[in-house]
Amino acid sequence: MNLSISNIVFILGIILWLLIRIPYQQIQRQNIIIDERKSLQEKILRILVWTGIIFLPFIYVLSPWLNFANYHLPIWANGLGIAIFALSLWLFWRSHHDLGQNWSSTLQIREGHTLTTNGVYQNIRHPMYASVLLTSVAQVLLLSNWIAGLSGLISFIIAYATRVSQEEQMLLNSFGDEYEAYRQRTKRLIPYLF
Ligand code: SAH
Repeated sequence: MNLSISNIVFILGIILWLLIRIPYQQIQRQNIIIDERKSLQEKILRILVWTGIIFLPFIYVLSPWLNFANYHLPIWANGLGIAIFALSLWLFWRSHHDLGQNWSSTLQIREGHTLTTNGVYQNIRHPMYASVLLTSVAQVLLLSNWIAGLSGLISFIIAYATRVSQEEQMLLNSFGDEYEAYRQRTKRLIPYLF
């Protein structure tokens, strides 16, 4: 087992991450879905992200199996990782809160879907994905292991690159000019930059 403080902080953060989502999953169950992109690709991406951010870190912390790929991180990197993880958890909660009933784990349009453009959606279109990116950066800084440290970032990049254009196309089909205007005045992940 690798029970250092930074590893335990990461595992507790991931448990909090999963708990934040539970009430929104319950709200989502009430939705009447009018458009859904439920494909094999979505399932594979979900397994990929869960493996990269949850399963491999848990295996690394709770077993010796990945120890051959360990390396050393300075204490300041762990401190920075904790600060980034705290920010990511806040953004993860806040983006669920701002999307409210419009949130769904798969790509969906529900009956009565509205376009959220307020709160953390005011300047960027994908704050929830930004929060997952921050989590995977924190993972690099907290887990001193080439496999369990980097797996989150790699799986995020693959999932984001595959999913984001499809999601924007779906929202463009549903909201037309309203979404196009929102797209013109916002960035995807980093306010004013990217
Ligand atoms: N990409 C967003 C939301 C992820 S949740 C983010 O990173 O914050 C995915 C669901 O959110 C999709 O099914 C989509 O229908 C919905 N969605 C995404 N952006 C939205 C918006 N601005 N307003 C309303 N619904 C949105």
